[in-house]
Amino acid sequence: MHPIDRVVAEVDRAVDEMVEFTADLVRIPTINPPGEAYDDCARFIGNRLAADGFDVEYLVADGRPEHSARYPRVNVVGGRRGGPGPVVHLNGHFDVVPAGAGWTLDPFGGIVRDGKIYGRGACDMKAGIAAAVFASEAITRAGVQLPGTIEISGTVDEESGGFAGVAWLAEQGRVAKDRTDYVIIPEPLDVDRICIGHRGVYWFELTTRGRIAHGSMPFLGVNAIEGMGHVLEAIKSELQPVLAARTTAMPVVPDGARHATININGIDGGQPVGGIQTPCVADCCRAVFDRRFLIEEGFEPTRREIVALIERAIRAMPGLKYEMRDLMIVHPTKTPDESPLVGALDAAILRILNKPATLVASPGTYDQKHFARIAGVSHCVAYGPGELELAHQPDEWCRIADLVKATKVIALATLDLMGVK
Ligand SMILES: [Zn+2]
Repeated sequence: MHPIDRVVAEVDRAVDEMVEFTADLVRIPTINPPGEAYDDCARFIGNRLAADGFDVEYLVADGRPEHSARYPRVNVVGGRRGGPGPVVHLNGHFDVVPAGAGWTLDPFGGIVRDGKIYGRGACDMKAGIAAAVFASEAITRAGVQLPGTIEISGTVDEESGGFAGVAWLAEQGRVAKDRTDYVIIPEPLDVDRICIGHRGVYWFELTTRGRIAHGSMPFLGVNAIEGMGHVLEAIKSELQPVLAARTTAMPVVPDGARHATININGIDGGQPVGGIQTPCVADCCRAVFDRRFLIEEGFEPTRREIVALIERAIRAMPGLKYEMRDLMIVHPTKTPDESPLVGALDAAILRILNKPATLVASPGTYDQKHFARIAGVSHCVAYGPGELELAHQPDEWCRIADLVKATKVIALATLDLMGVK
């Protein structure tokens, strides 16, 4: 039998084990925040990798403020070296968001029913970690000589930015341009879609400052809330139509996210509402904004456009001052068009699913930014089992058939990148 067919057969033979492994991962409640049971989960994955012949390391992000003795930030990385060929790194975050309300079954029960694995993280993205682990195991069991190296990592905190997770691995040099050739992140994007990157993120805090005066004579003061109102009005009437008319060439899904967007995250100003009030003109107002920018826009022009808009908006209010503070800047990332990684996944999807892959980009960011920006590994994509829309929802699930398909695709793409076709 051809090596590829043997690997596919081994995945089919391992279905029950894969389901059990995924369910076991779901039963470890790695809730973030605060970062529960990370050590348990890292060891669970690490033990499995060690049994498949991986050299396993635990990287504790003890230099990060999120890390504590109670909630240690433990990442696991394993490497299985064959020949001197390419290093293919499969990365999954094992933190999950809190269960939230609305569940009809135990979110951490690891329940398997009707061809689906249920639970918080089943889809985002413990099935993806299982797919990575069993892609490697199927290659081992099929007796295929590995011409390169497979690495598998389980990392923390993706849901809160990934700074103690993939960013930490990149800062420590554990993933880097000169030692990591390709990265696949099995995030839930549907088994026929390859995700090649995401838009940029610019979070900023805007403070408007006026002048306090007696509330019965507001004309003697400068109202900071009113000033913020002018900014909000300008965003709605001037900026939003312009942003909606800008479209990226990146295949961002859903359609609405093909455009630039801005969201108001929060606002507070003047006296705290609900407490005792005194007659005062509000002298301070603060708001946080979330601007998603396109790769074609770039960060600096995006920021300049905001500043110009604010200055225009408050010109009508002499005496009003403002300050801006950058809270988060994530540059857009995009896998190179001719990346062999996309080609290998595309070919594997065609072979396993009998249909061509769809290239997509994510509306939000994920750990690809750290691989691309800190580690300098541009050949990085997200591809994995599970449906994006189910992530973070009550009764989250992953279809077993999709787990099996994605495992085969990842195994075949990994071998393809190493020259086994
Ligand atoms: Zn995820």
